[in-house]
Amino acid sequence: MTKTPPATPRFLQPGLPSRAVHWRTAFFFMLAALCTLAIFALHTFSNNRIAIAVLYVIVILISVNFSSRRGVFAIALGCAALTVLSFLISDGPHYAADSVWRSGVALLAILITTFLVLRMQSAAERLQNQAHLLDLSHDAIFVRDMADRIAYWNRGAEELYGWRSAETIGRFSLETVGTEFPMAREDVFAELMRTGRWEGELIQTRKDGTRVIVASRWSLQKDANGAPAAILETDTDMTAAKQAQDHLAQAQAELAHVARVATLGELTTTIAHEVNQPLTGIVTNSEACLRWLDRDELAIDEIRETLKRIVRDGRRAGDVVERLRGLSRKGEPQRLPLQINDLVADTLALLRREMKAQDVTLKVGLARHLPAVKADRVQLQQVLINLLINAMQAMHATPRQGRDLEVRTAVQEDGTEVLVAIIDSGCGIANVEAQLFNPFFTTKSDGIGMGLSICRSIIEAHGGRIWPSRNVNAGSTFQFALPAYESQYQ
Ligand code: ADP
Repeated sequence: MTKTPPATPRFLQPGLPSRAVHWRTAFFFMLAALCTLAIFALHTFSNNRIAIAVLYVIVILISVNFSSRRGVFAIALGCAALTVLSFLISDGPHYAADSVWRSGVALLAILITTFLVLRMQSAAERLQNQAHLLDLSHDAIFVRDMADRIAYWNRGAEELYGWRSAETIGRFSLETVGTEFPMAREDVFAELMRTGRWEGELIQTRKDGTRVIVASRWSLQKDANGAPAAILETDTDMTAAKQAQDHLAQAQAELAHVARVATLGELTTTIAHEVNQPLTGIVTNSEACLRWLDRDELAIDEIRETLKRIVRDGRRAGDVVERLRGLSRKGEPQRLPLQINDLVADTLALLRREMKAQDVTLKVGLARHLPAVKADRVQLQQVLINLLINAMQAMHATPRQGRDLEVRTAVQEDGTEVLVAIIDSGCGIANVEAQLFNPFFTTKSDGIGMGLSICRSIIEAHGGRIWPSRNVNAGSTFQFALPAYESQYQ
């Protein structure tokens, strides 16, 4: 498909439809021709004693409207030649001094005007070329004045928004592209005025009503006096990239869910124990109550205490089921402020039995006065479970009395981040450090190798970071940091 040449930017030369341009050119050409004839006739055949040939400057000025620089130069030469010709016809062969002087002034005026016009044309051409370059950009670029009226609209903007340049000039830009700001509009403009630039993500609407997400960069142009004159906006279409990102996030969420359910599968035995224990307590205590009810004299206080234990055990079993339901839930992530210490305690409660079964000695060091973090509880718990299970598995080959696991929480000195560290005395990561977070990297016969890569995507999606390190003595430490939600301590 052949492309039409780029349109001349409006703010340099007001564009008109091609038929109108044709008529406009013809009009100025005719006007210049008529003026030339009239001036030539007056100069040659009238006895007027004024420098009529000076009027040729009008012809030169008119010629700018239909002629290139070379053309203007040729017309100026023509005007000079006609001046001399008139002079020869009307004054020859006497050549009166005042006539020579008048023709000389006219020639000088033609020379100066031509020089100025050519300079002006050259500057305009330079600007036009620069504007053509803007048309080559794939980004949408437009200029608007301080009243938000569009003054320039490049080809990229035509392609992105579907509005032709001619349709947008003079229209309000924010209205034309239906800009939705991620923050208060006043704040955006305040930053632009203060720093001269603004960058951010905007949602805009095309002519056909569909919406686009753009990475937008604004810069303020000032006039010679330093007063704001115009805003240059460059928009890069991010819609496809955003959609791909969303699909990726969805795929990751599904994968994370599958991994959670798989982890629950691994923990089935210990979880069954966890629920079984309070259930056994409930049965035993209920039987005791029934026996006491058969006695002649009712031991009300004993029965009340036992019933209280039954209620407590029932709640405990209920809590375990609730925690599991939360983990196996498949839903949209919900980021809410939460206390990481509570989450660590809950997660350890879920794994405590497994640790005991593997003779792991657990040490917990939870920092006091931690700021909250804004996170999805289920996702964060998945990270903790993954790291804790990995730590336990890394200690399989460690002698039973040396299986030490430590969980610590802390706050960064400047209060901006909450840190969680899981320290084990297992086999360490010396040989595998570089591959740890690669998807499908595993050293376990039954491993999938997705745990750490899921942990990293969850932590990074929360604006945090996760990293491993080798312990001085034995084993390794996995740490993650999340941005503190509140700056003041709770
Ligand atoms: P998987 O547990 O299925 O192998 P992960 O992504 O959770 O998948 O872990 C990848 C690999 O990283 C593990 O197979 C193991 O070799 C190594 N690894 C993870 N955590 C530790 C740890 N605490 N100590 C030593 N190696 C570890």
